[in-house]
Amino acid sequence: KSIHSRANWSSDSESDSSGAECLYRVVLLGDHGVGKSSLANIFAGIQEKDAHKHIGEDTYERTLTVDGEETTLVVMDTWETEKQSASELRIQLRRIRQAENIPIILVGNKSDLVRSREVAVEEGRACAVVFDCKFIETSASLHHNVHELFEGIVRQIRLRRDSKEI
Ligand code: GDP
Ligand code: MG
Repeated sequence: KSIHSRANWSSDSESDSSGAECLYRVVLLGDHGVGKSSLANIFAGIQEKDAHKHIGEDTYERTLTVDGEETTLVVMDTWETEKQSASELRIQLRRIRQAENIPIILVGNKSDLVRSREVAVEEGRACAVVFDCKFIETSASLHHNVHELFEGIVRQIRLRRDSKEI
């Protein structure tokens, strides 16, 4: 099992016709076992013991207040494919969503597994530079940096939104 490998979070916007309220879709991409469902469950406020009831496709919606402004995220934990690296996912995202310049956060999960770390922090950061995205290390087990991750996603979305408005 790959430990401390990465999940990519990408998001994409859907605003209603009034433009007043925005709903943003966040897709969790990454190899099997990296912790996508664990992170999604924390986002959704689902306890570990109930998590096993959720099998297959799952979508969670929550409204977060970040920097005093509410944003609704719809987190989709629907990705299951053959083994793929973060860079392959990045290439696919670039190809599929070329024109949109969608925000991406590279996530190094399982930071609690210090002794079996597979990716150095510096390596993660360097990857993020190459991928042109943000980077964060999280531990779903310890709930470390998970809220920061979702807040980071919201901020990334707003940065793109605000730069489009100018
Ligand atoms: P997914 O296949 O990407 O959805 O991965 P899961 O969320 O199902 O997690 C796979 C396994 O890794 C489960 O046994 C989780 O309990 C474990 N896991 C997930 N996140 C962490 C973490 O941050 N630290 C540790 N130690 N284990 C984790
Ligand atoms: Mg899963």
